[in-house]
Amino acid sequence: MSIEEKVQENIPLAQFTTFRIGGPAKFFIEAKEKDDLLEAIKWAKDKKEKVYILGGGSNVIINDKGADGLVIRMANDEIKIHGERMEAGAGATLARAVRLATGENLSGLEWAAGIPRATIGGAVRGNAGAFGSSMNDIAETVEVFNVKKEKFELFSNKDCQFSYRESAFKESDNYLIWKVVLRLKKGNTIEIEAAVNKFLESRQNRQPKLPSAGSVFKNLSLDYLKSANSNVADLAISAGVAKDGRVGAGWIIELAGLKGKKIGGAKVSLEHANFIVNTSQATAEDIVILISYIKQQVRNRYNVQLQEEVQYLGF
Ligand SMILES: Cc1cc2nc3c(=O)[nH]c(=O)nc-3n(C[C@H](O)[C@H](O)[C@H](O)COP(=O)(O)OP(=O)(O)OC[C@H]3O[C@@H](n4cnc5c(N)ncnc54)[C@H](O)[C@@H]3O)c2cc1C
Repeated sequence: MSIEEKVQENIPLAQFTTFRIGGPAKFFIEAKEKDDLLEAIKWAKDKKEKVYILGGGSNVIINDKGADGLVIRMANDEIKIHGERMEAGAGATLARAVRLATGENLSGLEWAAGIPRATIGGAVRGNAGAFGSSMNDIAETVEVFNVKKEKFELFSNKDCQFSYRESAFKESDNYLIWKVVLRLKKGNTIEIEAAVNKFLESRQNRQPKLPSAGSVFKNLSLDYLKSANSNVADLAISAGVAKDGRVGAGWIIELAGLKGKKIGGAKVSLEHANFIVNTSQATAEDIVILISYIKQQVRNRYNVQLQEEVQYLGF
């Protein structure tokens, strides 16, 4: 099939997001093979169309107007296991990676159980993590397409410059994550399954059931909180919510009395205040206004600046 035949037009994007929100892509393609990606990038360059990358859509707010350019959805979802190494296409889901690792008695990915739809590529870009672990602990090498240099490059774990929910790939749109090698460890089946079940159960109790994009804001470093507002930092410490040097953004949102706050169809979840849920017909605009309201309230009350973990697409 030629690239002209592969590129689709006016494709609704809400279906590809966990928020179930967002307008159409002017152009859309799924990249399953390296050639798909290369052809798509070249096509967009020739047509002077902007390129947007979509993984599982579990951490994005897509503009109601959609994306004015070519949306490339990473669909290279092959996973191969060689001993303690898992080689995963950027489009493979974390959920499948957890299942396969568990089946092979490989430990290291248990924390990711229950994160819906997220892909390995999206998870590496944002250094996704939970329960004290993150992609940084297991990503050995990352193969990326460098858009400027028009070639594939291999990043070591160190090159990725991982930090809390950050990586070198988040710094610019130049890097398209294509494949990742995860370094896992042979473990004990019963212990791995028990850990997976424990994390699943914990999510079941904490995660809202309505559509969301996970945590909206990054958790706050305790050092930052101390410098911004020592009283709130002391309160967090005495409430026992400062863990691993961070305080949950949800805690301070709840402290500000914003749990349940609703704008249009967007609502601060009653189960977890760092989640905004789409109660029915929320628009991206509702979500964006609610985010800005939360930031303003928390800043005005506590002199604390919240930063988004969710990513904006098409704004
Ligand atoms: C219920 C729920 C629970 C969640 N729990 C957690 C959690 O515990 N921990 C956590 O860290 N996150 C969590 N998340 C958020 C989300 O799942 C992660 O951030 C995930 O890593 C995003 O991956 P994705 O494939 O869905 O990325 P997308 O949402 O599709 O994209 C996110 C960003 O990455 C870019 N991107 C995606 N793929 C690539 C690629 N291959 N190359 C370059 N750029 C790319 C996109 O352009 C976008 O800017 C949760 C989300 C939900 C809905």
